[in-house]
Amino acid sequence: MPARNGALPKRAAAAASPQSGGGAEKLAIRGVAIDLYAVPLARVLVDAKHGSHSHFELVTVTITLADGSTGTGYTYTGGKGGHAIAAVLEHDLAEALLGKNGLDVEGVSDFIEWHLHYVGRGGIAAFAASAVDIALWDLAARRAGLPLWELLGGERGDCRVYHGGIDLAFTRDELIGSVTGAVERGFEGVKIKVGLPDLATDADRVRAVRAAIGDDVTFMVDANYAMSVDRAIAAARAFAESGILWFEEPTLPDDYLGFARIADATGVPLAMGENLHTIHEFGYAFDQAKLSYIQPDASNCGGITGWLRVAALAERHGIPVCSHGMHELHVSLVASQRHGGWMEWHSFPIEAWILDPVTLVGGRAVAPTSPGTGVDFDRKRLAPHRIGGASVGTRGV
Ligand SMILES: [Mg+2]
Repeated sequence: MPARNGALPKRAAAAASPQSGGGAEKLAIRGVAIDLYAVPLARVLVDAKHGSHSHFELVTVTITLADGSTGTGYTYTGGKGGHAIAAVLEHDLAEALLGKNGLDVEGVSDFIEWHLHYVGRGGIAAFAASAVDIALWDLAARRAGLPLWELLGGERGDCRVYHGGIDLAFTRDELIGSVTGAVERGFEGVKIKVGLPDLATDADRVRAVRAAIGDDVTFMVDANYAMSVDRAIAAARAFAESGILWFEEPTLPDDYLGFARIADATGVPLAMGENLHTIHEFGYAFDQAKLSYIQPDASNCGGITGWLRVAALAERHGIPVCSHGMHELHVSLVASQRHGGWMEWHSFPIEAWILDPVTLVGGRAVAPTSPGTGVDFDRKRLAPHRIGGASVGTRGV
């Protein structure tokens, strides 16, 4: 059993603690409001294992304290599971959270872990817990009057960013148009999907992308665990000549030793994290998988608390902490870390549905400077896509 450190980094724990906000009564959670949206994508997006995505689901949670202060968190899916996440929030968490100290972020996180443990330990429960945790961090940062990255002790409010395409069904011309378009928009890194039935076609697309973007643009590939270990070893060798920074999820994310075999056989740097949902899974991955990059997603690994715990483990292992998905939030997290790596600019455009979209300056993603997470949803535009939700206690605005 590998050693684990479940504690938050000191600076983060101090920022969000029951002592940091005054009288406990004022800080009691009085309301939990849940909204579920199904947001259409501009075009159907395809990867190697999840099939076609015509829309993404967005589940938001707004928590209101007795003193009227509020925070909003959220999670998302590729189009399946949103109703179940909203149901866990409504039936299993909302009532249970009423009366708890809303600034005791780590305490609430631990409560939820054990409250849902028997049916949890990842999966749908992890997504629901993450949304609540993000809401409480938003609340803590708003009350502190600080942008999240600053609350977390970040020294600069920006980070490296790459464009992550869900482009396996793109024709070769569409693929080249997508990556060169990203470079023209200012991205200094691009990632494409691989995992087609024919490895020669995959390798040809990888070579074509490298030729199109030139040698100065950072380039990653992502198989969404479509390959066997042996196939991934052959693929890594074929892709290596195109100068890839990492090979993401070449094989099953649960097969930590399979990852290690691929790394040992090829020397190609490996990345994963989007399908690891508990700190224990991350611990095993750090210990066994010979990863070069880790990509936790705060929407499914216990929220910001979970993401920070992974970041602390990554620092101990000398691995840059990157991110998967919801870049409008992760920009603040990656920017807050001394060992922050590359943030993915994800193809589910959640940021197109918020009031202050993320900007790119000099090839870097710039975190919001407003207090909180800076992720304020445009509810009017989202309203036609609302497909569910519930409200328990006082509804915040
Ligand atoms: Mg991926």
